[in-house]
Amino acid sequence: MTGTARSARTVTNWARTISYTPRRLHRPRTVDALAALVRGSARVRVLGSGHSFNRIADPGPDGVLLSTSGLPREIDVDTAARTVRVSGWARYAELARTVHAHGLALPNMASLPHISVAGSVATGTHGSGVGNAPLAAAVREMEVIGASGDTATMGRDDGRFDGAVTSLGALGVVTALTLDLEPAYEVEQRVYTELPLDDLDFDAVAASGYSVSLFTDWREPGFRQVWVKRRTDRPAVDFPWAAPARVPLHPVPGMPARNCTEQLGVPGPWHERLPHFRAEFTPSSGEEIQSEYLLPRSAAMDALYAIDDIRATVSGVLQTCEVRTIAADTQWLSPAHGRDSVALHFTWVPDEGAVLPAVRRLEEALEPFGPRPHWGKVYEMPSTVVRGLYARLPDFRALARSLDPAGTFTNAFVRELLDE
Ligand SMILES: Cc1cc2nc3c(=O)[nH]c(=O)nc-3n(C[C@H](O)[C@H](O)[C@H](O)COP(=O)(O)OP(=O)(O)OC[C@H]3O[C@@H](n4cnc5c(N)ncnc54)[C@H](O)[C@@H]3O)c2cc1C
Repeated sequence: MTGTARSARTVTNWARTISYTPRRLHRPRTVDALAALVRGSARVRVLGSGHSFNRIADPGPDGVLLSTSGLPREIDVDTAARTVRVSGWARYAELARTVHAHGLALPNMASLPHISVAGSVATGTHGSGVGNAPLAAAVREMEVIGASGDTATMGRDDGRFDGAVTSLGALGVVTALTLDLEPAYEVEQRVYTELPLDDLDFDAVAASGYSVSLFTDWREPGFRQVWVKRRTDRPAVDFPWAAPARVPLHPVPGMPARNCTEQLGVPGPWHERLPHFRAEFTPSSGEEIQSEYLLPRSAAMDALYAIDDIRATVSGVLQTCEVRTIAADTQWLSPAHGRDSVALHFTWVPDEGAVLPAVRRLEEALEPFGPRPHWGKVYEMPSTVVRGLYARLPDFRALARSLDPAGTFTNAFVRELLDE
């Protein structure tokens, strides 16, 4: 597990910005031991790869934290059915390598492959692309240990499934997921530099590749880099708005480009191009706090100009801002639920005292657009406001009560959201 042990019971998140000191910390070595620990605990949370930036995984001082780092990982590809059954705690890097070795592919990946599958889909993790829904959209079936310690299987034919994948970890421990695959494809990645905000045709730029990301430090009104990932099996689209970079780049100023996936238009396997960061290197900067908000895509330009109005506040504590698109999905608690979205992501400096005032100012500026915060990142919006952004929240509340009536899998983060 990522994280530094401070005492036998203390672990930190990947960025070392959050520490957890639960009543008990366990690292079970088998799924049976995991089930027994759940059965014997009144309050339990699971830690995936620990890449979240807030207290979503924290069971609190009276709870039990189950680390998944010692559990065996299984990845079974069914080439005929074009599906894979994978342990919840497996990371996308190893999943993608195995799937690719069978001539198959995932539809999309996040910016880094280091994160666990169950932890990612639980928070609505996404990549980019106007046609690409969050990673949870690939899940067709899940195996979940409930409070009794028994495992139940739930699939897409179950009316509760749209409430169950992006679950914030509140419905049980996901031991395995079955995901849809497609035939393997190749991607070429090019980075374009310096695109002023006034010249941005957002819809055209976002649609110029299979997955497109725009980066800015907000020191100027415009984008320093635009990363365009094109599938070689799809028609090429021109990019007349900015010049292609001649050398590989890192999206965070000052960080080495060798940490990033191959650029300069060299075609390669989907899993070595869709993430920005290579599996064997540190992703992003490593010393950071992150925030992200999903808004209706139609508001993209207005929202970018709203940020430009407070550029000085944002840029003072910012390492990089990434703008992506995400197709609407059907998960009740997905930040992309029911709306094609633009995602505005902020990699801040690792100084909470300096960053939180900027986060609050940013949330004020974005408020007219109904921003839904990423569940795994830092936000300051009151839960009353967040609740109002999810029409299916009452259904999720009812689902959580029916599957977990004693609240075994709730924590302060979940309670604040679900309490009426
Ligand atoms: C450098 C960096 C880059 C990132 N890039 C992106 C990006 O491109 N796109 C994006 O959307 N997000 C991104 N994120 C955020 C990240 O994807 C989420 O925080 C995600 O939840 C991380 O997965 P994890 O396994 O580390 O989850 P954790 O932080 O370990 O857990 C998150 C939640 O999932 C629950 N959980 C974990 N495992 C299980 C399980 N087996 N069963 C039930 N519940 C479980 C936990 O209890 C917790 O509630 C990034 C984060 C970092 C640090």
